[in-house]
Amino acid sequence: MADAHLVDPKASFASFSHLLDARILRALADLGFARPTLVQTKAIPLALEGRDILARARTGSGKTAAYSIPLVQNILRAKSGLDLDDPAKQATRSLILVPTKELSEQVSAYLSKLVVYCEEVGIVNLSTGTSAHLQRSLLADKPDIVVATPARALALAQSKALSLATVESLVIDEADLILSYGHDDDVRQIFGGGYLPKVFQSFLMSATMTEDVEMLKGLALRNPAILRLEEDEDEAANLSQYVVRCSEVDKFLLTYVILKLKLIKGKCILFVNDVERSYRLKLFLEQFSIKSCVLNSELPLNSRYHVVQEFNKGVYDYIIATDESGAQTEADTDDEVEATEDPEPEFTSTQRDASEAEQVEEDPSSSSRKRKRAASPPPKHGKRKHKKSNDKEYGVTRGIDFVDVACVLNFDLPSSSRSYTHRVGRTARAGRTGLALSFVLPQEQWGKDKVVGGVPTTKADELIFERIEKEQGGRRSKIKEYQFDMKQVEAFRYRMEDALRAVTRSAIKEARIKELKSEILNSERLKAHFEDNPLDLEYLRHDKPLHPTRVQAHMKHVPKYLLPRIMPVSGTETEGASSAEVKPGFVPFKNGGSRGRGRGRGRGGRGGGGRGGKRKSDPLKKFGR
Ligand code: ADP
Ligand code: MG
Repeated sequence: MADAHLVDPKASFASFSHLLDARILRALADLGFARPTLVQTKAIPLALEGRDILARARTGSGKTAAYSIPLVQNILRAKSGLDLDDPAKQATRSLILVPTKELSEQVSAYLSKLVVYCEEVGIVNLSTGTSAHLQRSLLADKPDIVVATPARALALAQSKALSLATVESLVIDEADLILSYGHDDDVRQIFGGGYLPKVFQSFLMSATMTEDVEMLKGLALRNPAILRLEEDEDEAANLSQYVVRCSEVDKFLLTYVILKLKLIKGKCILFVNDVERSYRLKLFLEQFSIKSCVLNSELPLNSRYHVVQEFNKGVYDYIIATDESGAQTEADTDDEVEATEDPEPEFTSTQRDASEAEQVEEDPSSSSRKRKRAASPPPKHGKRKHKKSNDKEYGVTRGIDFVDVACVLNFDLPSSSRSYTHRVGRTARAGRTGLALSFVLPQEQWGKDKVVGGVPTTKADELIFERIEKEQGGRRSKIKEYQFDMKQVEAFRYRMEDALRAVTRSAIKEARIKELKSEILNSERLKAHFEDNPLDLEYLRHDKPLHPTRVQAHMKHVPKYLLPRIMPVSGTETEGASSAEVKPGFVPFKNGGSRGRGRGRGRGGRGGGGRGGKRKSDPLKKFGR
């Protein structure tokens, strides 16, 4: 590539050594960041030149560091030119806006690590549960970097606790989500309220290019460098996507089989569309002594955050996350807008290397716009309905960095294609492989299976799935049908039904209250404890059984008579037989193509013959590293 500011994409962070402070490089080494990701390679040099940046890159591509690194570097540079006693030395130079409290926490935590060797850079996260009083005193020190949701930033700016007059850079992270969390008014007021100076650098980071982002672009950016980083084939190939069409009851059956037989190796996030359902699933799994923790907007913020941290450390394998956006009907227009709808002229392919997967564009139209950002507020979004949730700023499914997730299981399909993209973006991150498995409720099944309840959104599963398929197809990733060998799964049905019966409505209600109580307790303890011992988070667990119903001891184990026909993987508990003793001849579930009937017959007698090859083609088995 001819462009001078671009460094070799394969280069290490050391190739930035002429651009970055040694203390940043050292912190990056500590973080284990050896090589910059594509978006970092592109964005960092441009941002260091002071350019506004609009970056669209898939989730997990490292956008946080892409803006954080230049932001910190620029702060160091600005401060180094000033005398210690210069009153301008300590000022709030950066404002980072994020859609949720979880992200606020995550971004602040990342920044703290990045500036660990830079004593003079202070960071304050305004969207924690800390008291207004404490926040005010923190802000009185004029922290260099402030991270907040728009609502919090605005409130504190209005009350004059937060001064934005000295801001030199402003970031809108997860820009495609920020308005969908109902922050539109707040964002508009932050830009239009006269709080910000005339000149500052802006970053807009987003996983998708939606109408919202287009709108923010006009509001926040001036002559930006636009980075559209398409994932290359390899990256797309890291995520395998499967769909299973099944009834509500079978969702429980299959989940039980998948988890109990450890068909998925590694950590798994199970997404459901409402809170009650998360408890139903947790209690159901408890019946088989499968531990999981729930994550939903009812729980206090620091419990939520702690659950994710512990999950990331490997303390828990299964999180049942309620994606409340999954339960609201997002308008179709939320889905990504086509590039062709971009009203702004793009360079022709002769002007850039067509073989490049990414584009770095000038934005000619906006250069004439100069500093008009505050003048054109985004129109109000009347069409989008925001479901009132317990915590408007809960958003664990999007943007949050779950580390090393082997599988995203869409127990309930989300209600929009965009939501799907964000959910599956929790796996196959940072160059790792991942599996997404989605249950789709066939239209004719809707409203049946009253015993397990259901969620209204699944009524449109087939329609939504069509959209998802189309969009994923556009990204060159195909969603394949996963065919469980239902004949083998059937053997588990009796136990599954037994367990389902135990999970009554009142049991769920009781569990929900119990969990809430204990998490609030946890939360109070956490708060006090975190303040004293920020590193000591081990002692609270979130996956304690809720046990509102009888748990039948025998259900913990998979009896021998159920096992022989399904190949176990190591670690599966069996009665009397360790998995090492299990003889060959067990067949895996199959995926794709043949429905498993013809070949299903006579399997038992085939001995070990079919094992090796079959196993390879089974994503649930071969999955993992
Ligand atoms: P995004 O915001 O694009 O979804 P994140 O910034 O949350 O992605 O980063 C995703 C994950 O990749 C995080 O765990 C982060 O620590 C890791 N990561 C980011 N950049 C690098 C890098 N250069 N080297 C190693 N890991 C990285
Ligand atoms: Mg991000």
